[in-house]
Amino acid sequence: MKIDVLTLFPGAFDWFLKFSMVKRAVEKKKALLRIVNLRDYAHDRHKTCDDRPFGGGPGMLMKPEPILEATKDLRLGKKSRFVYLTPQGQTFNQKKAAELAKAEHIAILCGHYEGVDQRVIEEVVTDEISIGDYIPTGGEIPAMIVIESVIRLLPGVLGCGDSKEFESFSNNLLEYPQYTRPADYRGMKVPSVLLSGHHKAIEEWRKKEAYRLTLKRRPDLLGKPKKTARKKR
Ligand code: SAM
Repeated sequence: MKIDVLTLFPGAFDWFLKFSMVKRAVEKKKALLRIVNLRDYAHDRHKTCDDRPFGGGPGMLMKPEPILEATKDLRLGKKSRFVYLTPQGQTFNQKKAAELAKAEHIAILCGHYEGVDQRVIEEVVTDEISIGDYIPTGGEIPAMIVIESVIRLLPGVLGCGDSKEFESFSNNLLEYPQYTRPADYRGMKVPSVLLSGHHKAIEEWRKKEAYRLTLKRRPDLLGKPKKTARKKR
């Protein structure tokens, strides 16, 4: 998978490229990540990429020219996805991550200030994604969240010890509680079934706990109960 990130703050990605799952994916040649500095596409000597919004109002907006010129260099194909991180977008979730993980090429635009000129969105964006109902200062951290979640789903990125099959959200459930050694820490004991070596009983316990936790905290994940057909008398 090829991922191009368009940003005014390329330095924000320094640690991300060095330490995250992305580093592993790049080393394993499962992903290619390129950080594009939008200021390289500004034409004036101040490298201006923002301007005041028409109609007035607070703050500045990212200008269309640098973004659209940078986009030309990305060689977007018909199947490329172009993501804009925005609070007005569809809320990101594991299903969306899995959908994006099927793409061969994703461009990701990080907004800043009050956001970007609407014409950019209309011209190139295929997916507007929000990471939730809150406002960070820029799209860089939201982009990292999306990239991490997508990249770890690419085949061969996670080691065989890191399973994604049973993670929260993968089966519309939250993950069951987990424990490690010691089995008894200052009187706080690990549920005995987990020490029993009885695989079937452990599996049953985990299923039950995952369901119980999901019902308590995120019943929305379980969906609406199916209507059962009325019994004929
Ligand atoms: N004026 C915008 C609004 O009220 O919708 C918020 C702009 S925010 C300060 C600057 C940038 O941060 C946005 O353009 C976007 O790229 C990013 N951003 C902020 N909140 C976000 C969210 N919930 N999800 C994804 N990106 C977000």
